[in-house]
Amino acid sequence: MRVLDKIDARLVENEPKERRTPTGHWPSSASARFTEDEWREIRLAFKCVVTPDPSGDVLVGECLRAQWLKHTAQTPSNENDPGGILKMKMGGLSEELVFGLAQKETAVAREVAYKIEIDGLEFLVSGRMDGLEIDSDGSIVPWEMKSTYSYSATQVKKFGPKDTWILQHCWNIKGAAVLFPGHDMKRCKFVVLARDSLYRHEIDVVIDWDIVDLVCERCVNRWVHLEAALDSGLMPPPEYRHEGSKGDWTHWKCRYSATNKSKDGYCPYRSMCQEFEAKGIRLEARAEEMADAVGT
Ligand code: SF4
Repeated sequence: MRVLDKIDARLVENEPKERRTPTGHWPSSASARFTEDEWREIRLAFKCVVTPDPSGDVLVGECLRAQWLKHTAQTPSNENDPGGILKMKMGGLSEELVFGLAQKETAVAREVAYKIEIDGLEFLVSGRMDGLEIDSDGSIVPWEMKSTYSYSATQVKKFGPKDTWILQHCWNIKGAAVLFPGHDMKRCKFVVLARDSLYRHEIDVVIDWDIVDLVCERCVNRWVHLEAALDSGLMPPPEYRHEGSKGDWTHWKCRYSATNKSKDGYCPYRSMCQEFEAKGIRLEARAEEMADAVGT
């Protein structure tokens, strides 16, 4: 057996297989709906170049169906392949390398966990900021570190942080405020690394608390819906299917089509989701019916 085949088999074997029902809401899976004007304001506050959006509401982040499938511990139908696992490991290594170097230059703690209790939510919001720096004036600065590829990193430099990074960082800011109440916090930052070229880019943002509150409030609204769907056992509709121009799974969040068998995609439930739709299983589906439908 070729050594690379052995490595690939080991990578897949070592991937955590246990599916546990989560009892928290993660900022990395957050989602929110905004009006077009709100979203423009939010993006401006996070130093994004604002391009004309399609009119109407904007959905940002993970679709409620994907979140529901994760929370009910369904085994994903589109698991990461060895190449994907290696890419993630490479991203982690590049972040560790740059973070270690950063710690020699500034006072920054690595991976600071936080939990936030929210009125109206059963689960706590449970997150982890990549870094928490103490600035020269004593104020604290939450960091979000992202590893990506050269092209993507240069796009971030050109257009600003990605949509989901903004949601995640708003929760980091809230989390830092909960951990250090009354502490001065004026800025936050994104540190972006290209894991292939080690191209680096840093985005320093002045915190607008009204914007942070708005973003978090809208995320909470969606988590309220998620908890209701979990309580009732009813699977939410496939939101990004309908966000696509053709009403199918071509939206980048789903990245799946009948003609594209590539494993390279974003939603780990995409073939499962497509199967439910093909069998007419939608909002009324309960966990047992879903299991029957996909033979699990
Ligand atoms: S495939 Fe698309 S619509 Fe279906 S759960 Fe995933 S993101 Fe949502």
